[in-house]
Amino acid sequence: MSICYLDGSYQPLTEARISPMDRGFLFGDGAYEVIPVYSRRPFRIAEHIARLGRTLDAVRIPNPHAAAEWETIVGELVARNAWVDQSIYLHVSRGPDERRNHAFPAVMRPTVFLMSEALVTPSADVLASGVAAVSAADFRWARCDLKTTALLANCLLRQVAIDKGCAETVLFRDGFLTEGAASNIFIVRDGVLLAPPKSHLMLPGITYDVVLELAARHGLKHQVREILEDEVRTAEEVWLTSSTKEVLAITSLDGRPVGDGRPGPVGREMHAWYQEFKNTVMRVG
Ligand code: PLP
Repeated sequence: MSICYLDGSYQPLTEARISPMDRGFLFGDGAYEVIPVYSRRPFRIAEHIARLGRTLDAVRIPNPHAAAEWETIVGELVARNAWVDQSIYLHVSRGPDERRNHAFPAVMRPTVFLMSEALVTPSADVLASGVAAVSAADFRWARCDLKTTALLANCLLRQVAIDKGCAETVLFRDGFLTEGAASNIFIVRDGVLLAPPKSHLMLPGITYDVVLELAARHGLKHQVREILEDEVRTAEEVWLTSSTKEVLAITSLDGRPVGDGRPGPVGREMHAWYQEFKNTVMRVG
């Protein structure tokens, strides 16, 4: 049985109820985070809570908890659920109102909801083969740096991949790479790791930061710069990164092989560094 947290109480997920007048339901008016938990320890929780705070500030929802309180709630939820490795979904909406009205309620009572699932990272088979992706024009809004629950465009774009039997949709805007429908994208050209710079047009991924830190730590040549669509299509390697997928090779894009169609050496190395780092951090706490 999965235990969730809703507005101060821990309860079975199947029993949790919110009002249909909640603005999260009516407008997708909320912020969220997904925090991976390894061996019952949340990974990079301070960074996730900080990003949540930035989203809440930007969308003018009062942050209902200080960082330490968020960590306590997440810790308690992890303890109450059975899985050793978990994926924690954390959601804050602007809360309910009396009537459906675009303008904010005079008094905001944010709804706080967290739930846990088993964390399922890519299997050895998927890591060995990589995944197929398609591309699409990025038609999302101009604040993709905010992790808001209004994800209709991301859902439509992800479904483009699913409909073609693929795992992810790589997004291009005005001829440049932005990110994936639910991941950041890195490429390798001439042995150099390239990442698009953070901007309003992509989510500043927690995994993205870890990958760049690991590149610096291990002396891997890397550059953060705008990446042309054509550079992605002719890259030696393309990877996606996210908290649940970690570092995963994209080995075909729009039906054409990336490089030789197998996960490349730089990505395999980064995946190994990521696992080593994660295990070290988890051991030290
Ligand atoms: N970009 C988008 C649009 C995402 O939805 C996600 C994660 O879900 C990411 C990037 C990766 O972010 P993180 O590494 O913090 O999970």
